[in-house]
Amino acid sequence: MRALTRRWHAAGDKVALVPTMGALHEGHISLLRTGKQRAQRTITSIFVNPTQFAPNEDFDKYPRTWDDDLRILAAAGCDAVWAPTVKEMYPEGFDTFVEPGGAAKGLETNFRPAFFRGVTTVCCKLFGQTQADAAVFGEKDFQQLAVVTQMVRDLNLPIEIVPAPTVREADGLAMSSRNRYLAAEQRTRAATLFRVISDIADAAKAGGDIEGALGEGQRRIAAAGFGKIDYLVVRDAATLGPYDRASKRPGRVLVAAWLGQTRLIDNIAV
Ligand code: AMP
Repeated sequence: MRALTRRWHAAGDKVALVPTMGALHEGHISLLRTGKQRAQRTITSIFVNPTQFAPNEDFDKYPRTWDDDLRILAAAGCDAVWAPTVKEMYPEGFDTFVEPGGAAKGLETNFRPAFFRGVTTVCCKLFGQTQADAAVFGEKDFQQLAVVTQMVRDLNLPIEIVPAPTVREADGLAMSSRNRYLAAEQRTRAATLFRVISDIADAAKAGGDIEGALGEGQRRIAAAGFGKIDYLVVRDAATLGPYDRASKRPGRVLVAAWLGQTRLIDNIAV
């Protein structure tokens, strides 16, 4: 992969990387489009990263749709696909991890303690392997975007992290590879999550009662048939720490909740 990037760089081209776990959808392709606006050459990586899954999570059953993915990427004009095997990524003796703090504290980490350590480690490796000038990440995974941005800043990695907005289905549900786990009836209920966080963001913008809006949101999510709500919060968009409306800094509503066996996450700007 490095040799290819070296050739592109020698020709004066910039290279943008879109890291994914495959099972590609329109959200991933919008990231690729953003990459193409930033660079002459694009690489999409496809790697279902075992170090970011806990033993009880869905690593084995995570959707793998390799043939479709390649067709989609070819049609979208992606220049190269980087799809290492687990053995190539983590050979015998591999034993160095990136330990993220800051933006990684709380929220997802409360429920998936080793998740971001796996994400930062694999991203660091993908950045090194591809030598890309920029990497595009979706706001869909808002905390992940913040964690990777902080890693690049803290470790002086020579790559620019470019955010891209969340792509949604017609009813507002954020596109996700995991949406295919949902049964038809669950799929209809899933859009409640977006409606709830939109209403909370509107209430916050209008100067309304945020705590009241969060409580009402919890009730609506439960009424839509969701089981456990891992979190439904308003946070400071930059630090993911407490939101202070008086500071006039941007806020973010973030949610993670279970619909049957499927964990859905979403977020929206205040
Ligand atoms: P994944 O394959 O789910 O690990 O996601 C790969 C990248 O695509 C991450 O940067 C995600 O934030 C991004 N992504 C996933 N779903 C969406 C979406 N609906 N809209 C925009 N970006 C997304």
